[in-house]
Amino acid sequence: MNKKLCIGVLTSGGDAPGMNAAIRAVTRTAIYNGIEVKGIMRGYKGLVFNEIIPFKTENVSNIIQRGGTILKTARCDEFRTPEGRKTAYDNMVAAGINALVVIGGDGSMTGAYQFAREFDVPIAAMPGTIDNDLYGTDTTIGYDTALNTIMDAVDKIRDTATSHERLFFIEVMGRSAGFLALNGAIASGAEAAIIPEMYTEADQLDELISNGMRKSKNSSIVLVAESELTGGAMGLAKRVQEEYPQYDVRVSILGHLQRGGSPTASDRILASRMGEAAVNALLDGQRNVMIGIQNGNLVNVPFSKAIRDDKPIDRSLMNMVKILSI
Ligand code: ADP
Repeated sequence: MNKKLCIGVLTSGGDAPGMNAAIRAVTRTAIYNGIEVKGIMRGYKGLVFNEIIPFKTENVSNIIQRGGTILKTARCDEFRTPEGRKTAYDNMVAAGINALVVIGGDGSMTGAYQFAREFDVPIAAMPGTIDNDLYGTDTTIGYDTALNTIMDAVDKIRDTATSHERLFFIEVMGRSAGFLALNGAIASGAEAAIIPEMYTEADQLDELISNGMRKSKNSSIVLVAESELTGGAMGLAKRVQEEYPQYDVRVSILGHLQRGGSPTASDRILASRMGEAAVNALLDGQRNVMIGIQNGNLVNVPFSKAIRDDKPIDRSLMNMVKILSI
């Protein structure tokens, strides 16, 4: 029965370093098990617009170290409609594909969940996003690389911040999740992180200022998660300039550089392990699960759980940032 599996693999939504390592692991594990693999270009767009190519082991040679995704990625509005998903299913069946591996973030997982409820397609998903905002997994493919990129950037900004005795707000990605901001702040020794998860509990800016920012230091660096809730780095800088004009404030928005670069060893290993596990899950007859990692062990997380938007962040770490920056 296993021999009849034909897996289509796609990367969808925001790209993340390590997606190539994931594609490689899926392809090679499948071929090792005698399963056919097809690469679907541009996420769900490739299903809807029929861009599907047979994959051999050579298709994934020399990509483990490359950022981005050789399959390309896209956002696909057509897949949000029942007609679009029907076309996607018809194209998939016509190409001989009878199982999918979806590598992507929260939106891609939601799309997979919807598709699996409408059609008889087993899907194994892998969390590929720098944001680390998927529930049921301690970390996601790309998160560690992005965190390291942020750390390197903040190290450089600190040199100029110190020389000029400035307050820097550095905005990082995260799509309404504070993992990159909080752990980026810890890794770079920043004075504070401002994150959406704690926004409703206190005015983090007022707290920061009243905690005596710059009392004993000649510069301060604050990492801000991009989010309507935090107001972003620009919003906070504007507030400081209005409410505390004594500060010399600067803003740096790290932007898309956080998505790029060669994946770290951690991300390559995670992607390789999850890719193998995704194919094994399909071989075991599992369906509609996201491969997650909890306490170092791979686990299967049902889609419905993975897309919950309340992944907990360790709040005690916020306090630790304060303690370590006195
Ligand atoms: P990410 O996977 O990085 O979170 P997006 O949120 O842009 O990225 O989602 C990627 C794609 O997943 C969307 O462009 C769309 O094709 C599909 N998708 C997202 N949500 C849904 C949904 N509710 N129904 C169907 N498809 C969806």
